[in-house]
Amino acid sequence: MEINVNFLDNLRLEAKFDDFTVITDQPIRYKGDGSAPSPFDYFLASSAMCAAYFVKVYCKARDIPTDNIRLSQNNIVDPENRYNQIFRIQVELPEDISDKDRQGILRSIDRCTVKKVIQTGPEFQIEQVENLDEDAQAKLGCQRILIVDWDVHHGNGTQDIFWADPDVLFFDTHCAAPFYPGSGNLNEVGAGLGEGYTVNVPLPESAGDIAMEKAFRDILIPAADRFEPDLVLVSAGTDPHHNDMAFNLSYNGFAVLTSIVLGIAEKHCDGRLVLVLEGGYNLTSLARGVHTMLSVLAGGDVPELMECGLREVLEAAEFHRDAFEEE
Ligand SMILES: [Zn+2]
Repeated sequence: MEINVNFLDNLRLEAKFDDFTVITDQPIRYKGDGSAPSPFDYFLASSAMCAAYFVKVYCKARDIPTDNIRLSQNNIVDPENRYNQIFRIQVELPEDISDKDRQGILRSIDRCTVKKVIQTGPEFQIEQVENLDEDAQAKLGCQRILIVDWDVHHGNGTQDIFWADPDVLFFDTHCAAPFYPGSGNLNEVGAGLGEGYTVNVPLPESAGDIAMEKAFRDILIPAADRFEPDLVLVSAGTDPHHNDMAFNLSYNGFAVLTSIVLGIAEKHCDGRLVLVLEGGYNLTSLARGVHTMLSVLAGGDVPELMECGLREVLEAAEFHRDAFEEE
């Protein structure tokens, strides 16, 4: 996420991101006007609020009311070294919460993103540039990117990277847990500003063309219409083919999915579409699957999808019809 900072009067600063603005100041003893929290205050608040957010997510999923849950955080500063601090997060839980949920709530606080990032130790890259607008995203001319992942495995890495990013809409159809990697539940929808920008469609192992087409038409297309991407990227695995790991896609299925993402790219972003090869462990369906995608991108025909075998039944019925009809 890009945060742009502007210098205001005296020591006041303004940070802008998305549609939000945050203002900071310094206390009078540090020559500020005390008109707003300091940058570090916001940082401390972000840690406490992130912890509370994970409590909320835990409780929401289990219908546990949060009215009587209290959470506070104190930072205890080492007098010898002020950069050495303990963040003590305390939580008060009402009596009617079970032991299991008490443990669950504490564990959920432990998952706090701010905490994890601090503990991993973010790398700071400080550099002088000629022109701030000429960064990579500006050069690409992209503000909003749609990533479609039809690989049969859940795209857990992509989901993690863009989990809290409202500039990237991630749509993923995949074989549901316990199939590897086991993530991608319906309720994994992103967090913070990125809440609602992760769309998972977990499907049973035998899901086929019709189910996938419906997921793309009824979920992906409306989501894309609302998001209005200016670039569409596809994790175009061929492992949902019926010769491969799981799922029951035919080559016609790949043709239709390709035509749908192509349609989205044409409607919203002058056809800016990139298909990137992902899983595909059967070399025949890998080769023919890619050929099918390329032929649709090159303007080839897109067949109508039918339940597996139905087309053959219709052909057989036609073949045998004469034998049963009276002269
Ligand atoms: Zn895969």
